[in-house]
Amino acid sequence: MTSPEIRQQFLDFFKSKGHLIVSSAPLVAKNDPTLLFNNSGMAQFKDFFLGNGTPPSKRIADTQKCLRVSGKHNDLEDVGFDTYHHTMFEMLGNWSFGDYFKQEALTWSWELLTEVFKLPKDRIYVSVFEGDKKDGVPFDQEAFDIWKAIVGEDRIIYGNKKDNFWEMGETGPCGPCSEIHIDLRDADEVAKVSGKSLVNADHPQVVEIWNNVFMQFERMADGSLVPLPNKHVDTGMGFERLCMAIQGKQSNYDTDVFQGTIQYLAQKAGKQYGDEKWADIAMRVIADHIRAIAFCIADGQLPSNAKAGYVIRRILRRAVRYGYTYLGFKEPFMHELVPLLAKQFAGVFDELIAQEAFVAKVIYEEEVSFLRTLSTGLIRLDKLMEDCKGKVLSGDDVFELNDTYGFPIDLTALIAREKGLDIDEAGFNKALQAQKDRSRKDAGASAEDWMIVREGEEVSFVGYDETQTTTQVLKYQKVQNKGGIQYKVVLETTPFYAESGGQIGDTGSLTFKPSGITLQVLDTKKENDLIVHFVSDARIEQVAADAEVIAQIDVNRRRTITQNHTATHLLQAALQEVLGNHVAQKGSLVNEALLRFDFSHFQKVTDEEILKIEQIVNAKIAENIPLLEERNVPIAQAKEKGAMALFGEKYGDFVRVITFDKNYSVELCGGTHVPATGEIGLCKIITETSVATGVRRIEAITSQQAYALLSEQEAVIAELNALLKAPKDLVKAVTSLIEQANSLQKTVAQYQAKEIGGLKAALTNQIETKSGTPALIQQVAVPTADALKNLAFDLQTEAGSLFCLLVAEIEGKASLALAISKDLVDAKSLNAGTIVRELAKEVEGGGGGQAFLATAGGQNPAGLGKVLELAQNYL
Ligand code: ATP
Ligand code: MG
Repeated sequence: MTSPEIRQQFLDFFKSKGHLIVSSAPLVAKNDPTLLFNNSGMAQFKDFFLGNGTPPSKRIADTQKCLRVSGKHNDLEDVGFDTYHHTMFEMLGNWSFGDYFKQEALTWSWELLTEVFKLPKDRIYVSVFEGDKKDGVPFDQEAFDIWKAIVGEDRIIYGNKKDNFWEMGETGPCGPCSEIHIDLRDADEVAKVSGKSLVNADHPQVVEIWNNVFMQFERMADGSLVPLPNKHVDTGMGFERLCMAIQGKQSNYDTDVFQGTIQYLAQKAGKQYGDEKWADIAMRVIADHIRAIAFCIADGQLPSNAKAGYVIRRILRRAVRYGYTYLGFKEPFMHELVPLLAKQFAGVFDELIAQEAFVAKVIYEEEVSFLRTLSTGLIRLDKLMEDCKGKVLSGDDVFELNDTYGFPIDLTALIAREKGLDIDEAGFNKALQAQKDRSRKDAGASAEDWMIVREGEEVSFVGYDETQTTTQVLKYQKVQNKGGIQYKVVLETTPFYAESGGQIGDTGSLTFKPSGITLQVLDTKKENDLIVHFVSDARIEQVAADAEVIAQIDVNRRRTITQNHTATHLLQAALQEVLGNHVAQKGSLVNEALLRFDFSHFQKVTDEEILKIEQIVNAKIAENIPLLEERNVPIAQAKEKGAMALFGEKYGDFVRVITFDKNYSVELCGGTHVPATGEIGLCKIITETSVATGVRRIEAITSQQAYALLSEQEAVIAELNALLKAPKDLVKAVTSLIEQANSLQKTVAQYQAKEIGGLKAALTNQIETKSGTPALIQQVAVPTADALKNLAFDLQTEAGSLFCLLVAEIEGKASLALAISKDLVDAKSLNAGTIVRELAKEVEGGGGGQAFLATAGGQNPAGLGKVLELAQNYL
């Protein structure tokens, strides 16, 4: 059976079991901040398991392009050396979303493998989850019983939590899995050692081909497992491994999936695949890598210097170097493989054939640029390895190869390993960082030394209690960055809140005495525990040494920020009350315009929920709950109070606890807060959106801004009321207006149809026979080009034999419609499309259509007379 047949049989089989066949998601992951590349079939269905969104069918099957070269699944090191791990591979999968479960899934997988694909039953082993006492998950008796009836107890292997229990994340859907393994060794070897003992032992011919995951629990935040109301099945079978098994091969690379490219490479290199160890590895690496590279580019990810793009560049350089060293390819060669692949995957993943030339070009350019430095780099690396004392290549050497010759670190590591050397990765990272720092300086960001005005490092923040203070400058520093020259100023005491915990920094002014000069503070930030005020006025250099400075924050701005911050706490508590305790803060922003709160939650917050949340927050505002602010609370004590730690913050041993009603909101927080909630006045939620899988974002406004929004909306309503002459029920009035408009439109359409009917009758009488051809060549008045075309067509159809050219001026433009009956088209070899295109030149336009019916339009209606005149020539 060929690989395309195998793929098709898989899909057909699950189609016959009621599955919807869908296409593969792109290789490059989109909308998922946790993934660079799709690495499993389930990735595109994640949301369905989490309950966000409904799948198009409860049963789905597909083949998914997967890439395992980064993150949790990284098989890159093994690729080419072993015979069954690839960078890119196809994962065949079938899914049940709350539909069938273990019985069907396992029975079907057995049926497919042994009856459709006719794999030998005595070479198959299966695994079931043995259970985990500590976790409170039982042995998977259900799967065991099903398998026992199918394969017998002695073919079942017990898998532990690491191998046989799958979890989506720290919380969320999870469950046991059952793997299917196959023993592909020769009969005499099987006779010597039992296959069962080789399962999960990295034996290249006793491999896992299929994994059935059963999502039946939900992992809660406290670690407990709760049975899911809807149980799901998620399976993944390695297509290339399946082909190896069915085609009776002992390596994925011996199947027709890879042999096309491997034979091409062998011939090009003048070698036989299977003859030389390193040439073979090189051919496998290239045959594998070209797939990953070509499909990533086809899916929109170009090679580059960062993130996903760099992963692709690294894979490509790895392949180029193998070809260079072991196959003698000194010129670009990878791009030649693209057409082979494009053809092989036509009809399966059409994105490659559709962009074949583009993909080949991108790869060619990458090859050219790397080959330019590869040979000198290899000579340099040989020298470095020769000179290397000890067993580890230094970080600086690895960095030089990277920086000067474009050798990705893993390529250097690979070549070094071939010579029995390691590389100093930490040293490399250090050298890389040093270079980044240098180039940042070169890019114009620079800083002069701190100018120390007075001794003293004790800087104190008084901004919880005061908005103004008299103090002195300790030091300042001139810095140059993108925004131009700025000064960082450090004061001995300050009321300015430095940006942290989501709350933005204060702005305000510094008034110096005795000089009397006032400078604006544009922002306040924390740097190494110092509070730094940003000033752009160069006069700071003259006045920094003044005897005193009055530091004054922008009080109105701070008030709004503070109101927004307290509202954020009230909102968080309300979210937990309405949505549940799983709501945890994932980020926040509090500034003078709005408050933004990101939190974990797996569905959209409904309109009713939003309303409820808003009601609770506003009720808490109306209660005018006083602030309870406790500073320097030992952390243990704060936890006892039930304070919720905030996301992304570090806490010392002593913390500040902010409480608004100890039964409602208790939080660790360094921000500023209103003395009592009543000051917030009003809180209005303005948006609810998704920021990442499982993370929602709410934005809200308070006090003056909330009031302004409501006033604006009220003004709109007032205007509508006035326009509609103050109806009793505004909604009803607008609804009836819409209904009226709809019914008027219908009436107009009816009248138009009637009018055109009359016109048609009149025109029918004007048909004349010219040079033996029944013809109607006329200018008419109709409202649309569509009506014109229909009219010409209807006239021709009703008349039978007719050459019917109608022209009209519609909204200042020229329109033509020509219908010619079939007998005339044939007898006189006329073509309406060609004729209208020719005629349309007179009205500065163009058009086209079929031989029987064509239309055209033009900018110049003045030419219509000429059109009618010229049309006579075609008769
Ligand atoms: P292995 O232990 O062999 O690496 P896995 O446990 O990582 O496999 P799963 O994550 O369960 O595999 O993926 C499902 C199926 O996908 C596997 O049964 C296997 O057939 C296939 N597969 C996994 N990784 C690769 C790979 N790198 N190349 C080819 N096929 C793979
Ligand atoms: Mg793996």
